[in-house]
Amino acid sequence: KENSTKENNVAKIKVVVRKRPLNKRELARKEDDIVTVYDNALTVHEPKLKVDLTAYVEKHEFCFDAVLDERVTNDEVYQVTVEPIIPTIFQRTKATCFAYGQTGSGKTFTMQPLPLRAAGDLVRLLHQPVYRNQRFKLWLSFFEIYGGKLFDLLSERKKLCMREDGRQQVCIVGLQEFEVSDVQIVKEYIERGNASRSTGSTGANEESSRSHAILQLVVKKHSEVKDSRRNNDLNESKSAKVVGKISFIDLAGSERGADTTDNDRQTRIEGAEINKSLLALKECIRALDNDQIHIPFRGSKLTEVLRDSFVGNSRTVMISCISPNAGSCEHTLNTLRYADRVK
Ligand code: ADP
Ligand code: MG
Repeated sequence: KENSTKENNVAKIKVVVRKRPLNKRELARKEDDIVTVYDNALTVHEPKLKVDLTAYVEKHEFCFDAVLDERVTNDEVYQVTVEPIIPTIFQRTKATCFAYGQTGSGKTFTMQPLPLRAAGDLVRLLHQPVYRNQRFKLWLSFFEIYGGKLFDLLSERKKLCMREDGRQQVCIVGLQEFEVSDVQIVKEYIERGNASRSTGSTGANEESSRSHAILQLVVKKHSEVKDSRRNNDLNESKSAKVVGKISFIDLAGSERGADTTDNDRQTRIEGAEINKSLLALKECIRALDNDQIHIPFRGSKLTEVLRDSFVGNSRTVMISCISPNAGSCEHTLNTLRYADRVK
């Protein structure tokens, strides 16, 4: 019991900022690094011009649960964000870990390795003496929300739909789940899923910045008698009871929410959808933080899909990714203000 007290002390909502290093292009352009990090705070030095065109700097200071500078490795990111939550997954916790930020700020770079490490730790715990006889199994799924629609990233982008049962459990009809018994396979799933993320008709890679990618690791408890009719993974997984889960969400580029005045109609529609979902997400996390009974999850597809992670025993980690270069200043400030509202 001592353990569970300790685990319940894991913060319900944690907001972390990660700054990436200047990239080659920014270095070649001799762009300034305008973000300084100290402890769990940071300062943005915004370059500005007076009316008479003399330059000056406006300073903006922010403070978060943790601020990770450009020297921090992905392993350290894992230790600060996801690792403390892992044991709570076995105590009926639904956890979510978001990567928020403008395109190019490091969301995918940050997010990609996390499920791999988490799966490793979860599988290790499954085999511990306390859990060994509980018939727990770990399942993985990976899907995308693009233009308000759901697509299975591990099943030829099959279109999916969402259903809610009477107990407010969210079910994504037809979503493929794969059992994870060996961690190496997780790497393959992540790579496969990322390769099938939206590329749009132009094939441009930047299209993936208009979608939210959601990878879920779910611990389930399986019944003792194996029903002979449940002879495939799909049915086996569906008939088992969810113990806890963790969702990793690589959000659409935050700047895409401003695409609402674009010349292209499709881009405008997608921009409006992204804007709506990022606002709804912020409202849900704030409601969660205030222990509100009513969580406004109906505000968007993203928050509806995550509904069961916003009620009961939940944990939320927001990783806000920022670019350090002067040219990204406005987006960086927007990201930090969003994170500030959530914390
Ligand atoms: P996003 O998913 O937010 O659009 P990416 O994760 O694709 O951004 O990152 C953009 C580029 O910056 C990639 O080439 C990535 O490898 C690099 N990058 C991002 N974060 C870091 C970091 N912390 N250290 C080194 N390179 C990084
Ligand atoms: Mg990305």
